[in-house]
Amino acid sequence: MQTIANKMTGELGDALHLESPVRAIGQDAQGVTVRADNVTVRAHRVIVALPPTLAGQLRYDPMLPVDRLLLNQRVPNGAIARAIAVYEEPFWRADGLSGRSIALNSPVSYSIDQSPASGRPGMLSSYIAGPAARKFGRLDAAERQRMFLEALEARFGPKAANPVHYIEADWSKEEWNQGAMMGHYPPGVLTEFGPALSAPVGRIRWANSEMPTHWHGHIEGAIRSGERAAEEVLQAG
Ligand SMILES: Cc1cc2nc3c(=O)[nH]c(=O)nc-3n(C[C@H](O)[C@H](O)[C@H](O)COP(=O)(O)OP(=O)(O)OC[C@H]3O[C@@H](n4cnc5c(N)ncnc54)[C@H](O)[C@@H]3O)c2cc1C
Repeated sequence: MQTIANKMTGELGDALHLESPVRAIGQDAQGVTVRADNVTVRAHRVIVALPPTLAGQLRYDPMLPVDRLLLNQRVPNGAIARAIAVYEEPFWRADGLSGRSIALNSPVSYSIDQSPASGRPGMLSSYIAGPAARKFGRLDAAERQRMFLEALEARFGPKAANPVHYIEADWSKEEWNQGAMMGHYPPGVLTEFGPALSAPVGRIRWANSEMPTHWHGHIEGAIRSGERAAEEVLQAG
């Protein structure tokens, strides 16, 4: 994934402003004013490429129409955390194992082999989702690591308990994510507010992986919604 982001960074050049969270979007007859922490941008139109719950935290002037405002309040993010355990080599392959596992009765519900194509080092990526992820987030660092490594050891043997590196991420604790891996639609939300998901609001267009009808919640879906928003902007001029 980082490769894609890096390539896009090269194309965007100076137009890309990192460490500059957007706080407010104003609209008038001529264009939009997007206010971020370190930069203010004036443009014809803007694409808000945020999950609905984060889009709802921006200040809009004028205010969003009621359907879009309430939609943003009704699509909560889920909770997910991941650990990557790094080993000298993918030892599980020698045992005839793929590294991929699913265990619905374990808080660490699945794992994948995320070793680079070169085959070294060995990397096992594993995930905790839903209520178990929130519980995991309340543990201290040593307890969290133990939880992941014990689960891997049970599936791949004692070598799994001793990685050379251990890295973890909890998306619920990231200010600019506030949960993951996607926004969920509680009953009735799509029926009541579905059309507001993609409806332009004046000069604002929307893009996110909560919108598409194909690959909802995935990168492919996010890209599809981005292409759709870009086409809408080009057509609107
Ligand atoms: C653990 C995990 C595993 C996943 N695995 C897969 C997988 O295997 N395959 C797959 O297809 N998908 C996977 N996904 C889902 C995929 O990451 C998402 O579908 C995709 O990233 C959504 O893209 P997006 O552009 O809609 O939103 P995001 O990727 O969330 O992008 C929104 C961006 O906006 C930034 N932001 C937030 N607030 C502001 C602000 N105020 N101003 C400026 N910027 C802001 C955020 O920092 C973020 O970079 C996974 C997600 C997680 C969390």
